[in-house]
Amino acid sequence: MSNISNGSAVSLEMPRVPAVRNRLRDNPVPLPKRVILAAPRGYCAGVDRAVIAVEKALERFGAPVYVRKQIVHNIHVVSTLERKGAIFVDEVDEVPVGSHIVFSAHGVSPAVVQGAADRNLDAIDATCPLVTKVHREAVRFSRDDFEILLIGHRGHEEVEGTMGHAPERTILVNSPADVPNIVVNNPDHVVWLSQTTLSVDETMETVRLLRERFPNLQDPPSDDICYATTNRQVAIKKVSEQAELVIVVGSANSSNTVRLVDVALENGARAAYRVDYASEIQQEWLDGVSTVGVSSGASVPEVLVQEVLNDLADAGYADVQQVVTAEEDLMFSLPKELRKDANGNPDERGLGGRVRRLDWQQ
Ligand code: SF4
Repeated sequence: MSNISNGSAVSLEMPRVPAVRNRLRDNPVPLPKRVILAAPRGYCAGVDRAVIAVEKALERFGAPVYVRKQIVHNIHVVSTLERKGAIFVDEVDEVPVGSHIVFSAHGVSPAVVQGAADRNLDAIDATCPLVTKVHREAVRFSRDDFEILLIGHRGHEEVEGTMGHAPERTILVNSPADVPNIVVNNPDHVVWLSQTTLSVDETMETVRLLRERFPNLQDPPSDDICYATTNRQVAIKKVSEQAELVIVVGSANSSNTVRLVDVALENGARAAYRVDYASEIQQEWLDGVSTVGVSSGASVPEVLVQEVLNDLADAGYADVQQVVTAEEDLMFSLPKELRKDANGNPDERGLGGRVRRLDWQQ
């Protein structure tokens, strides 16, 4: 879905809404039916923080609050926030002078920050701190005269934001196929960084190829692929070893969600599909399937997973076993602009990945 806007949900191809329930038939299969549910799944700490930042900005400043790009890549979250008064835009020049704007979890380049300042916008930066960490690495390596080989997907907002921190010294490595064609000034002074939401295995293969070409390639100080991406991939690998069919809940423009489908197919699942809503599950996917694996991307509210489990239960998959491969307890604080309310009272809550109910389920 490369042609979709990353701003408003209105211009996106809307999936079928959850109200259109697709009651699945309970057809017989040779073995007992069951679901293996991956854990961790769903919301990460950075997404939780970004979504709450928009909700809190709406509470504090009133609607509308503008958001540059989708706050997180999930159509349900974006359309829910739109109903509450958020207006999603692609660029800051669409925002009326003097308004409040939230920068998305994927981060922005310094040029975007400057563009917002030039329009006298009150900016709230909901960039995930783990993306900010990569920005800082890019700035530091650039200052030290390294050329940065940034492994990531062309056109992804996070990649644009990171490249914008060292535009003169960053070369994008979009896929392993790019490696033979990379041209650098000094092959002994190169470092690789990456987008936070890539396939761990594919990225390591790209690094291996890069190191064949540039033996003195320097590694980043710590992994750029974030804990949430890594943990969800480890969990889905385990699930895929046992499941004939894997269903991943998440949106088409969510990089980490799409990677989960790839990882499932590479690790034993006969078939794997991404759905925004349970109503997209097709009856024929279940033909002859005794074990269904289920997971969700890092920007997906748990309520959407519960809908999938409900529909699978209709089809006889009521036995749900959870496979837990990691516990997550990382917490982030709110963006600094929102840590106090209008009366100056502090909001110091720690935000981690959490099960969250959205209004259509309340
Ligand atoms: S997926 Fe990782 S980098 Fe992205 S918002 Fe979540 S924790 Fe942050």
